Amino acid sequence: MIKKINSKTIKLLKFYNLINYNLIYNNKAINRYKSQTYKISGDKIEKLDKLKKLILRVKGCKLKNNATNMVFADGNPKSKIMLVGEGPGSNEDKEGIPFVGRAGTLLNKMLASINLDRKNVYITNVVNYRPPENRRPTDNEIARYLPFLKKHIEIINPKILVLLGSTALNALIGDENTISKVRGQWIEKKIGECKLSIIVTFHPAFLMRQPAQKKMAWIDLKMIRDKKTKLKI
Ligand code: URA
Repeated sequence: MIKKINSKTIKLLKFYNLINYNLIYNNKAINRYKSQTYKISGDKIEKLDKLKKLILRVKGCKLKNNATNMVFADGNPKSKIMLVGEGPGSNEDKEGIPFVGRAGTLLNKMLASINLDRKNVYITNVVNYRPPENRRPTDNEIARYLPFLKKHIEIINPKILVLLGSTALNALIGDENTISKVRGQWIEKKIGECKLSIIVTFHPAFLMRQPAQKKMAWIDLKMIRDKKTKLKI
């Protein structure tokens, strides 16, 4: 029996194509956190620089002591779409740029599937130093870096905040939530003075381990694409 393929399935197949192997994509992230690239206001540059210096001055942190580089952010500080991952892995630690390893390759492809790239989003992590052996950051480590993350969000002032994975979800929304319960919906929330539409989705590293969940991530990505259109971003 030949099964008819509808347009939804075709779109899904295209997405699978995109986020699996067929897309040749340059994974080398360009650190665009430079005033001359984006002409961001002096005020914003100053605030980001100040925040960076504060993080570099953290004392008595095991993550920092074991790390090679502090990983601050990548992308466009003027963007209205901000993504938050968990913490740097070994490639990110070496380069000082978030999401440049395998998870970053998948993240780039996910963004490309909704016509986004690092020129029009801004990316950071819950913790700015690599947890050894890529373990999840502890509650204490998260608590130490959370005020910096909140400040970071306030400075960037995005309209859409995408939380990648449970660490970002638990840090910013609360411990009682699980991804499968809260993904696929918009959460309206203020962080400091910043009014946000927040969406939680699976972390790309999780999607590499559980590819069956990619179809759910695709639903979330389409929601981001539609919200972007609605908000005229
Ligand atoms: N995983 C993350 O959560 N962040 C990175 O920067 C890289 C991998």
